[in-house]
Amino acid sequence: MPELPEVETIKRTLNQLIRGKHIDHVTVNLPRIIQRPDDSEAFAFLLQGHTIEGVERRGKFLRIKLDGLVIVSHLRMEGRYGLYSSGDPVEKHTHVIFHFDDGTELRYKDVRQFGTMHLFASGEEFNNPPLSKLGIEPLDDTFTLNKFKEIIGVKKTKIKAVLLNQAYIVGIGNIYVDEALFRSGIHPERNAYTLSDAELESLYEAIIDTLSESVKAGGSSIKSYVNGQGEMGMFQHSLRIYGRKDEPCDNCGGPVMKTVVGGRGTHYCPRCQPVKR
Ligand SMILES: [Zn+2]
Repeated sequence: MPELPEVETIKRTLNQLIRGKHIDHVTVNLPRIIQRPDDSEAFAFLLQGHTIEGVERRGKFLRIKLDGLVIVSHLRMEGRYGLYSSGDPVEKHTHVIFHFDDGTELRYKDVRQFGTMHLFASGEEFNNPPLSKLGIEPLDDTFTLNKFKEIIGVKKTKIKAVLLNQAYIVGIGNIYVDEALFRSGIHPERNAYTLSDAELESLYEAIIDTLSESVKAGGSSIKSYVNGQGEMGMFQHSLRIYGRKDEPCDNCGGPVMKTVVGGRGTHYCPRCQPVKR
């Protein structure tokens, strides 16, 4: 699943590709991708004649802004956007097509069919699910060390689960949580409230650094994930722990372990990330 850096990269690419385009009509081939309104024909009807003003991101969601409307789009496992000419053959698993009046089309393809789109009047999206339930943005100025301590310091659950919970901090998924915990030397199963001030500070910095470095590299391309323009991100080459089971740890040379924490595959180094307290 694309996480903050990947969605940020897709956002930037889409802004280059579709900003200013006018929608002539919309085709929905798989109605269940459209979560709001209930009727996918209403979704298509409401979007006719509107202009795309830009694309923004909130957590792992894209906000496609139009004049007076907003589409909130989540790619989930394998959703992706691509810009095509109207004459290009339509690939299998293309579920939604935005036909523009200049002869191009934005196509949404999703092999797993888990992705979602919600349509709102501008501004309404923040007061309704799915965006209304989201926590703080880790790359915003509002994400201070004090705020982080406030969120994390009292939680009596495993630190990995706390960091994955989008109601607390958004955009961090399985890849970046493993990276940030490795960089700060914290075992993924530590209870959040047992972390010392120094550990919280180190983790806070690791989260910001890992996400910022990945955004700069265009995100990670793992398995089949490719950003909106079909380019590969480069951060997968900088991952220090994720996906490196049995390989030597970057730090100590010992073998990287893989276990399951809260139902998620988890990479860590038992020497550099000891279970303590
Ligand atoms: Zn190690």
